[in-house]
Amino acid sequence: MRLKHIKGAEEAVAKSRYVIHDAKERRGSWHTLFGNQKPIHMEIGMGKGRFLMELARQNPEVNYIGIERYSSVLLRAIQKMEEEPLSNLYFLCEDASELEEFFAPGEIALIYLNFSDPWPKARHARRRLTSANYLNRYAAVLSSEGRIEFKTDNEVLFDFSLESAEEAGWRLLASTRDLHQDSRMNEGNVMTEYEEKFSSKGNPIYKLIAIPPRDSL
Ligand code: SAM
Repeated sequence: MRLKHIKGAEEAVAKSRYVIHDAKERRGSWHTLFGNQKPIHMEIGMGKGRFLMELARQNPEVNYIGIERYSSVLLRAIQKMEEEPLSNLYFLCEDASELEEFFAPGEIALIYLNFSDPWPKARHARRRLTSANYLNRYAAVLSSEGRIEFKTDNEVLFDFSLESAEEAGWRLLASTRDLHQDSRMNEGNVMTEYEEKFSSKGNPIYKLIAIPPRDSL
């Protein structure tokens, strides 16, 4: 993804009350932040936050956390939260490779991965958010009922993700190679910024839902 550096973004993120700055200290006690025991769902690589904000509006019975590593991108989500604060949504400006340092086993009920960067070069495969090493990190923080939901318009990344899920022992609950034409899987679908962009060009959207191996829970 091309990234435009925005002046003042780091400072704005650093002082935002919607961004959690002491994530490692909150490991195991995220429910206190929200002040309730509702399940926590998360998007990794949330971009400008459109998807998560819509989910947070629609589902007050769920708590949401968005992770985005670039402050220039997260800035837009913060600005939207200032216009419309949502008490069930917080952001982390962090790299997801540190996930297990932020969350304790079982703390997360659902992880969304939407239009994750494809990292097309084979030597960068480990950086893909659906590679087996990332799946192992997700397995370490998901609850016993936990799952991931992954959407992309990139067929090569989708096929890679199916293979790495199998390799890491995950069980595929559902998948489609054309989400918007699949009435069952598309029911209640909330479009992300990238989904809107790519589907408007006529690209099919791929989606899978998978659960971690039982023995890692
Ligand atoms: N999910 C959004 C959507 O569907 O519109 C944004 C998709 S954008 C292509 C991918 C985003 O993931 C980028 O903003 C990127 O900075 C973020 N990202 C990629 N790898 C990440 C990581 N390891 N940790 C946190 N964010 C990451």
